Amino acid sequence: MRALCWNGVNDLRVERVPDPTILAPQDAIIKVGLSSVCGSDLHLIGGYVPTMRAGDIIGHEFLGEVVEKGPEVTRLNRGDRVITVSIIGCGKCWHCEHEEFSLCDNSNPQPAFEEMAYGHCTAGIFGYSHAFGGYAGSHAEYIRVPFADTNCFRVPEGVTDEQAVFVSDAVPTGYMAADMGNIKPGDVVAVWGCGGVGQMAMKSAFLMGAERVIGIDRFPDRLRAAQMKAGAETLDYSRVDIYDALLAMTGGRGPDVCIDAVGMEADSGASAIEDLYDRGKQVLRLESDRPAVLRQMIQCCRKGGTLSIVGVYGGLIDKFPMGAAMNKALTFRMGQQHGQRYVKRLFEHIEKGDLDPAYLLTHKWALDDAPQGYRMFKEKADDCMRVVFAP
Ligand SMILES: [Zn+2]
Ligand SMILES: [Zn+2]
Repeated sequence: MRALCWNGVNDLRVERVPDPTILAPQDAIIKVGLSSVCGSDLHLIGGYVPTMRAGDIIGHEFLGEVVEKGPEVTRLNRGDRVITVSIIGCGKCWHCEHEEFSLCDNSNPQPAFEEMAYGHCTAGIFGYSHAFGGYAGSHAEYIRVPFADTNCFRVPEGVTDEQAVFVSDAVPTGYMAADMGNIKPGDVVAVWGCGGVGQMAMKSAFLMGAERVIGIDRFPDRLRAAQMKAGAETLDYSRVDIYDALLAMTGGRGPDVCIDAVGMEADSGASAIEDLYDRGKQVLRLESDRPAVLRQMIQCCRKGGTLSIVGVYGGLIDKFPMGAAMNKALTFRMGQQHGQRYVKRLFEHIEKGDLDPAYLLTHKWALDDAPQGYRMFKEKADDCMRVVFAP
């Protein structure tokens, strides 16, 4: 089959690779219909995530058709149109039983790196380096999904492919960001980053009762989408002082909930992080992630407010204002998405019409054009929010 392979920093190629096969009785093989780029892929492409190997297939947000299943898969049938949550749960461990699927004990078959770097191993992620399980990604004609009964969800009739594909990743990540904010009616919610996840976080904040939502970015098309599609007010951080603006907008109090939908930023950090796999803890003492958004959120958030972090961080940060966070009695919530917990609810919102993620899809390209698609996405050219590939 054809697949988009990572071959080094900024080196993506469409190559011929062997078709995936059933390896375990709970596996399913999905024929990929749509597969989206994600901002977190830029960290891989830029070389900021260690343990990538030449030939690794990337992509983790996808929709497709079940074409083969192992003997222990009971909830799915051949021909089902499904989305797959991008972070893999086993469905059986203590964390999965507590609906903390991204903390699954069993889905990462290569736990050594994470155990060394993080103290514990978290869930495997499709197409996201060997530290996160070494799973082949979805920018391919076919993909193997482990624990398919836990991770694949049939798409309801009334939901289109273009809506459903984002329920794999962007929608549950944004929704969980709002959920972790513990938003109360009347709250003001500020969201840093108006890409796909940020857009869904803004929309979700309104669904959970926020009175005002403020989106922060610098790209005019993303700010426009935040206003037009998500109903948010917006701030351009290249033009205004965010602290001054947020305090002025909230009568000096600051937002009740601050959401980070940016993360480590692919254009920052030490290139030495590529050595992480070999040098482990020693290299981990470097600052690997740029905490500009975190620092700003801590400054801006109202006293006693909540910071919800879904932007991806990988290693260590420097100059973290712990004094401000402690004395302001801030609550920190964070994590990779537990999509399996939310998919049913999200499809219901989409069917009712109060959430329509399809506008995130600004470009639909053939898989063969994926390297150019990522270049456009990275440069945010042509008002690109997300490119989706159709193999
Ligand atoms: Zn993602
Ligand atoms: Zn599990």
